[in-house]
Amino acid sequence: MLNIDHALETVRDRIARAGGDPERVKIVAVTKAFGRDAIDAARAAGLFDIGENYAQDVVAKRDALVGLHLHFIGRLQKNKVRLIAPLVACWQSVDRVALGEEIARRAPGARVLVQVNVSSEPSKGGCPPENAPDLVKQLGALGLDVAGLMTVGRTGPPSEARPGFAVLRALADRLGLVERSMGMSDDLEIAVAEGATIVRVGSALFGARPPNTAAGN
Ligand SMILES: *Cc1c(COP(=O)(O)O)cnc(C)c1O
Repeated sequence: MLNIDHALETVRDRIARAGGDPERVKIVAVTKAFGRDAIDAARAAGLFDIGENYAQDVVAKRDALVGLHLHFIGRLQKNKVRLIAPLVACWQSVDRVALGEEIARRAPGARVLVQVNVSSEPSKGGCPPENAPDLVKQLGALGLDVAGLMTVGRTGPPSEARPGFAVLRALADRLGLVERSMGMSDDLEIAVAEGATIVRVGSALFGARPPNTAAGN
């Protein structure tokens, strides 16, 4: 069986060196493009938070996910919400009110994060920062549990993600939101230094993803 104990130790070490409390920064193990063996390996290593990007993968892996907390982190079409609603513990990629309405309909009171595009890169999901306050309000009015904000750092050298992470942090503070999901395998130190409460880590735990996988965000 795939063993990620050593890789996890390395990730925890990186978090600690960046000034994060490894007990308080939650690691979401991103298993997109990997088989259920990655999910099993995460569980065996004591990681109970799993991230997936595609609705059809969530459905296909549903047996492996029993008892784990699934974070949906990919772009999501409204018509896929119904399929995965019973399986998702946290919807991290909510970027528009219409999506929130469908989630509220299929999973009343669900925990959500608002995805914000802090780099203005068109390839990235998320609402513009200036729209986040209204969206947070609207989602709350739908009865959703808006726990925080999520972002994907700017593509390129990790240091270039820093200003965007700072924007996310400031925005979350201003809105009184606790969770800041930011940082992936390559830029998690920067994210932790900028106050990430959740990092989403794939390749640093499981190795390089199989080729011809869309980035998902
Ligand atoms: C793929 C993905 C991750 C994990 O990326 P790694 O570089 O493998 O750590 C995190 N967040 C999102 C939104 C992703 O699509």
